[in-house]
Amino acid sequence: MKSWNEVETPSIDSSISFPALNLTNSASGKKESIRRKQLYRMYVCGITPYDATHLGHAATYLTFDLINRYLTASGSEVRYVQNITDIDDPLLERANRDGVDWTDLAHQQIDLFRSDMINLRVIPPAHYIGAVDAIPLVTDAIENLSSKDSIYSVEHDLYFKVHADVQFGQRSHLSQEKMMEIFAERGGDPTRVGKNDPLDCLVWMSQRPNEPGWPSPFGTGRPGWHIECTAIAIKYLEPSPSEDALIDIQGGGSDLIFPHHEMCAAQAQMLAGKPLASTYVHAGMIGLDGEKMSKSKGNLVFVSKLVAAGRDPMAIRWALMKDHYRQDRMWTDELLVAAESELIALRSCLAQDDVAPTSDLIEKIVDALSDDLNTKGVISVLNTWVERTQSGDTGGDAQSLVRALDALLGIKL
Ligand code: ZN
Repeated sequence: MKSWNEVETPSIDSSISFPALNLTNSASGKKESIRRKQLYRMYVCGITPYDATHLGHAATYLTFDLINRYLTASGSEVRYVQNITDIDDPLLERANRDGVDWTDLAHQQIDLFRSDMINLRVIPPAHYIGAVDAIPLVTDAIENLSSKDSIYSVEHDLYFKVHADVQFGQRSHLSQEKMMEIFAERGGDPTRVGKNDPLDCLVWMSQRPNEPGWPSPFGTGRPGWHIECTAIAIKYLEPSPSEDALIDIQGGGSDLIFPHHEMCAAQAQMLAGKPLASTYVHAGMIGLDGEKMSKSKGNLVFVSKLVAAGRDPMAIRWALMKDHYRQDRMWTDELLVAAESELIALRSCLAQDDVAPTSDLIEKIVDALSDDLNTKGVISVLNTWVERTQSGDTGGDAQSLVRALDALLGIKL
């Protein structure tokens, strides 16, 4: 699948020193220093294309864009892969509900997502892979799992035995009761008769009446969600045999911790005999007016609608950075208005000939980002710099700050 257009990133002053990046690893629950390397492999779960791109999506992709930008600016290469679940129950349900063809709905939403990502200046993944295109990878992965006795059938559907991986549950740290509850809420089928274990997950679904299907060694059907990401990550990130884990960073919204990322990790462990990722990073959820933003509540705020209404995409980006990425938080119009006015003040300072000192400021921005992407701290030091410039402080280089803001924060002014 075509990724979105490249987002140009300026190079920044080579004299800037980058501390090691620290990120909170959901699997350990701790903030950990990311080992310095020349090449990082990062996989971020993409959208199911039927309601792109609400602010929860935007906050997630922004988080991983900041990681990508930091590691790249520090001189490393980031191999970045994202999937798109272009066949799944929610997509078919939405297309049915709205009386539209599911492929038309998917294509329309994927186009919208691409333009939203460009507007938000999110650097595209090197590989943007659709589930449909990944079917041969998925069937290979299922055959491999089957050869390790971790697949069984219920009627004509295939399931993965989650407990084939003895570490199942160790990345998400939930009780059995909680896993059962969340599994049912997020696409799982714990009560299906015939399963060995209620938490076993579907990897191949035989074709249902009036639903699409693709040929496979197991009959016509379609891939399960978790195996799609597992197979795509392992194929396109080209893991190195010398590394302890297949990839460096597995990411997404915190609603993917369980079951999605736990299932992917268990499948990868069985497929490759080692952990899927060294670090699992999860972005918090965005709510609206005191409530969780969700499809079922119908209170989603879309990037494309804000942009169509004339709101500055850079202010959307800035507003999402005003709190910590892991924090569940509320979106309000006041937040966006405040971001817009802070950006106006920043732009106006950067247009001046004399500005407050910038070297220290850029160093502080880098330090804050290295500390688990402390964007709240970044915005605070930038606002202080604006005040200093407004009160007549001089000695800085506005252009070097413009480049740093673009390269590190994706804020182009
Ligand atoms: Zn995924």
